[in-house]
Order: sequence, then C-alpha cells, then structure tokens
Amino acid sequence: MKYPLDILGLTMPMPLTPPTIEDESVLARYPFLPQSREFIRKQLDENGVSVEGLIEEPWLEDIRRRGSLRLVESVVHKEGVDSTTTVDISSDVGRMTEALSFLHAMLVVCASFEERLLNRWVEGEASRADQLFGMDVNHFEIIARTYLSDIRTEPIAGTTEIIYHVPMVDFLELCPKITGGYWRLVNRPVKQGWVRMDPASGENSQQRTARLIKERVRQSLTEDCTDRMDKMDDAFAGLFADPVDRILGLLSERVSAEMPMSAAVREDWPPCFESAVAELSQGINVNHTGRVFLAAMSRAMGHTPELTISFFENAPDYNAETTTYQVGHIYEHQYTPHGCSALKTGARCPVSPGEDRLCDQEWMNHPLKYLRAKQRRRYQDESRESNSEESPERTEGAVSVSNPDDSS
Ligand code: SF4
Repeated sequence: MKYPLDILGLTMPMPLTPPTIEDESVLARYPFLPQSREFIRKQLDENGVSVEGLIEEPWLEDIRRRGSLRLVESVVHKEGVDSTTTVDISSDVGRMTEALSFLHAMLVVCASFEERLLNRWVEGEASRADQLFGMDVNHFEIIARTYLSDIRTEPIAGTTEIIYHVPMVDFLELCPKITGGYWRLVNRPVKQGWVRMDPASGENSQQRTARLIKERVRQSLTEDCTDRMDKMDDAFAGLFADPVDRILGLLSERVSAEMPMSAAVREDWPPCFESAVAELSQGINVNHTGRVFLAAMSRAMGHTPELTISFFENAPDYNAETTTYQVGHIYEHQYTPHGCSALKTGARCPVSPGEDRLCDQEWMNHPLKYLRAKQRRRYQDESRESNSEESPERTEGAVSVSNPDDSS
C-alpha cells in the first residue's frame, strides 16, 4: 500500500527523488537545487579545489568575489539578489565560478552562526530563484517537479499561454507564508485536488507558481544551512573568520536599528572584552589599547554607538563630548578590533594558560573568533535541546560530526 507523504508527518512534500537534470548550465544557474549538490562536488573534485583552497588560493579570487557580491546583495537589498548574472555559464569556467561562489557564500553564512545573516541570505537567494524561475520557459517544469509533488499544464487554445495547476497539498502548506487574497484557497479554483494558478497582479501563471516555489527554496536552503551549522566545528568555521567578520560588519551597519545588544549575549563575550567593560564600569583606568579595542570590538559585535559610549561612562576621566567623538571616529572608520597577540602585548589579555579552554586553543588568535565560537556553541546547544524536546527517544551524542563540505 502506498501512503500519502503527509501521513508520515512530512510537511514538505518535495519529491524524495528529484528529476534528473543533465544540463550543467541549469545546475550552475540554480546551484541551490538538490540536483546541483553532485555537480558542485564534481566541480571541487575535477578542479582539485579544497575548502582551504576556496578561501586562500589566488586563482580562485574571482569565485570569492562573486560569492561576496551575492552575499552583499542579500544584505544590502533586503528584497532579494539581482537576478541578472554577469557570469557566462556557457563556459566551463563560468559554470565553476557560479557553482563554487554559491558554495563559498553558503559556507560564510553558516560559519557566522548569525541567524539574521542566514535569513537575509536565504531570502536573497530565494527571491532571485523566484525571478529566474518565472522567466525560465525551457526549464520551469523540471524545476517545479523538483520542488512540488507534481504539476499540470493547461495550454490556452489559440495562444502560447499556459496555465499551471499545483497539487492542493503543496498549495495548502505554502500559501499561509504568502500575503494577499490570491493565496487563500477560497479564492483559487480547485478541481479534483488541483489548484489552478491563474495570472494575477501583472504576473502570468508561471510567475505565480514560481512565487509558490520560492517558499520551498527558502525551506530547503534553510534546512541545508542548519544541517551544515550543526556539523560545523570551531576550527572549520574559523577558516572563514575574515569573510564572516566583513559581512557581519556590513550587516550591522545596514540593520543597526534591528541589531542592538541582541548581537551577542554577555556570556558570549571574550574575557578581554568583558574585563575592559567591567574595569571601566568600576572606575578603573583602562589603557589606550584597551579603550580602542573596546570600542572597535563593540562595533564589530553589532552594538550601537550609544551603547558603546555608555561603557565609558564610569571611566575616571570620562568626558561625554570626547568619548562621543572618539567612538564616532572608530565607527566611521570601521576600526578592526585588535587580535590576541596585540592585546597580550598591550597588557589587555586577562587570561593565563589553563584558565579558559577556548583561549587555549591553537587557532585562537582573535577575540571575534572567541565570540563566534561561543555563539556557535550556544546555537548548537539550543538546537540540541529543541531536538531532544521534539524527539525524547533520540540517543544523546548520536549526532555525527563531519566536514560540512561533504554534503555540498
Ligand atoms: S586569548 Fe585572545 S580572546 Fe582570549 S582573552 Fe586573550 S585576547 Fe581575548
């Protein structure tokens, strides 16, 4: 007997085996497709590219630049990434660039363990997919069959127009996530379990259906990233520290109104930052290195200038005007916080060997890495807790840890 998927509690009736796509241009244009994973892996293997290479190799600079551009676009344009591509995917190099730049961007997002960045990037990629799917006459059906349990077409006699019909089970799951009367089932013609996707709001049937599929792309990308984040360890995530810090700096500027304080809870703070804040609040003098570090680190953590200024209010020589000017200068010029060795030299590292396990790690060379490692652990603990609440029978410690690149 064949059970419908929803009886298994699977809220996402994507086909278990997506249709085969052999055209590598399609796989490169849509690197988030489930079918593209093997293609991306092949690009890594055939070009001898390792994760370290993806980060450091000079010949892969274009790929990193393209990945950064997609990330920056998703942060800057909240509504989505520009769908036009400047990469020629008819060439081998173009296809490799498109595929690996997507992987690079995704790994940076995952290594940030920052939910707001994840959401923005996913939204950017899903919106881009929505626009491209709506225009892609040649591959739309196979894409729809990848994300929906089925699709039917109804050619309109005497025209080139096609009306799409989607299974009600897919529509019902996805429509609550979209606003507007069009997306309420009572407003859609339904026949024998199929929902008719009429043209509306200046969009044809294909574009309306693409909007529905966008929700599946969003789900699929979020699940893929969450899975990678669960498997990512500190050392692997640390490889992406520089691009992570750059994009989080940009994110904090763009959404400063959304950012304050929630960027890092106090338990995540590295001891060097905690001690600078604590000493100043107790009226203890903190040297120049410590003060510049405190302001630059606070900015990198996403704090508002007002909050950063408030850290100095109990300093023995506090002057509101001077502090506002100096903190403003650090924000305006986006000072990079000192690394561990500069803080040790400047007598601003309060930790001795053996006192803090994270600070003892060989790879620990920057307080931002400490912060990210703490955030990552908290995120992983929280997601483990919520998993064990959902499935109490699950055996503790049964989660395998593997290189996140294995699942590309
Ligand atoms: S080792 Fe680095 S992160 Fe840890 S307290 Fe010292 S300076 Fe800060």
